[in-house]
Amino acid sequence: MNKNPDLKVFISTRESSCDECGEKLGSRAWISLVGERGALCLSCADLDHLVFLQPGNAALTRRARKHSTLSAIVLKWSRARKRYERQGILVEEMGLGRAEAECLADGEVRARRREREIERRAELDRVYVARFAQRMRELFPNCPPGTEDAIAEHACLRHSGRVGRSAAAKALDEEAVHLAVVAHIRHTKTSYDELLARGWDRHEARRQVAHQVQSVLDRWQRT
Ligand SMILES: [Zn+2]
Repeated sequence: MNKNPDLKVFISTRESSCDECGEKLGSRAWISLVGERGALCLSCADLDHLVFLQPGNAALTRRARKHSTLSAIVLKWSRARKRYERQGILVEEMGLGRAEAECLADGEVRARRREREIERRAELDRVYVARFAQRMRELFPNCPPGTEDAIAEHACLRHSGRVGRSAAAKALDEEAVHLAVVAHIRHTKTSYDELLARGWDRHEARRQVAHQVQSVLDRWQRT
């Protein structure tokens, strides 16, 4: 696949806020710069489903990128060197999983994977995940078994402070669940990520896949 190698995420070095949702992101936020529209938080940039991979293992990095439709380079400004320095990459969790599986002969990768699993579990608020999954099952009774758990876990990680979401966003209202489901469908059931990787504008890409998203929603909502 011919992907645009230039998706970049910057670790901000000053107080910033998202130009789309207005959320205050603090002084070391991870942001995406979108043309004239300024800085976006990773949620608004639709990159918050990606996981961070530190540098240090070239084979793992290469494979994780290869297996991720969407990936981004993470950069931080170095005051001392007066240039942006690469901190690692953001890749799809499934892509990283596949890359790890391919690198499992490598003991270091094995250890890192275990660590990542432990961290992930520690971050998950089990009560929140269970309630979210239950709410989702009520709203989308026809979604494939297990989907509600995957989406609930992601929603929980997303609100756990990793990407600077406020506690208020934890609300389990219908709107929040609906948004999480739409995002999941867009990323997994349509060509949305491919379009973003090719450099499409996010809003155009959303319009392009809106029909597909709606038809999956209709199927999942049907009783
Ligand atoms: Zn935002």
